[in-house]
Amino acid sequence: LTQLYAPLNFLGFVYREIKHALADMERMFSLLDQGQEVADRPNAQTLDTPQASITFDHVDFGYEAKRQILFDVSFTIPAGKTLAVVGSSGAGKSTLSRLLFRFYDVGAGAIKINDVDTRDLSQASLRRHIGIVPQDTVLFNDSILYNIAYGNPGASQDDIIGAAKAASIHDFVMSLPDGYETQVGERGLKLSGGEKQRVAIARTLLKNPPILIFDEATSALDTRTERAIQKELDQIARNRTTLIIAHRLSTIANADEIIVLDHGRVIERGSHQSLLQESGRYAQMWRLQQAGHALS
Ligand code: ADP
Ligand code: MG
Repeated sequence: LTQLYAPLNFLGFVYREIKHALADMERMFSLLDQGQEVADRPNAQTLDTPQASITFDHVDFGYEAKRQILFDVSFTIPAGKTLAVVGSSGAGKSTLSRLLFRFYDVGAGAIKINDVDTRDLSQASLRRHIGIVPQDTVLFNDSILYNIAYGNPGASQDDIIGAAKAASIHDFVMSLPDGYETQVGERGLKLSGGEKQRVAIARTLLKNPPILIFDEATSALDTRTERAIQKELDQIARNRTTLIIAHRLSTIANADEIIVLDHGRVIERGSHQSLLQESGRYAQMWRLQQAGHALS
């Protein structure tokens, strides 16, 4: 029987690996929107820093040559500060985060981290420094433990549980019969939007990156869950360089700088207070949302 068991066990291993590879590919394709490859330069530098400033320096970009998406976008996020980007759907907000992660290279201008062009950095080291909490978290068909530890193969059980506690998901996990071994994803337990977001937050906490991107991370949640999660996000963002793409303006009033993107152009920038005084697009969006007519 043991003779039979070994190959079966091996097949099980192969199946597990393939399953992960497929889930990873699925995830990569959805993130990439099947974009073209970017390659490391032969002498690419390794980024290794706990403190990262980010600069978009006159960035132009289009996914296709005939349709430009970003026009002369410039901003700087000093290390440890928060920049919020607002604007209507299709304005190019998520494109900023894809470019920062270097799924694509800019058409003109440059994106720099600590004054080094990201095209001069190895992609692996760049991506190690960035944690993303996306709008829709895709979970792998695996245990909750695997889903939190994903991307951190060296994480200890204690680290994982610590991250889960900080993301306010630990008590929920412990209430499940199989605890951290509970299978989730398409073929397992379906988690609510808020629970999935908490898994994504725990994953990001465990990664402990100096740069954070929240891409409408709470827009799919009801207001109460959003408030609870927002507190956690604010906590994680403290002392990290953070790019927040926001849907509800109430969540970004404390950002160090806010930019309004419209059809790929920065049309306004400033603090919440100064933008309200300008009585422009931001002030208009704010009034609409305060009146409860939140438009996407
Ligand atoms: P936002 O996040 O502000 O809603 P996006 O940055 O996702 O907007 O998209 C900006 C524009 O780029 C949209 O018009 C969108 O259709 C287009 N776009 C996004 N991804 C791709 C892609 N992979 N190929 C071609 N166009 C894309
Ligand atoms: Mg978007």
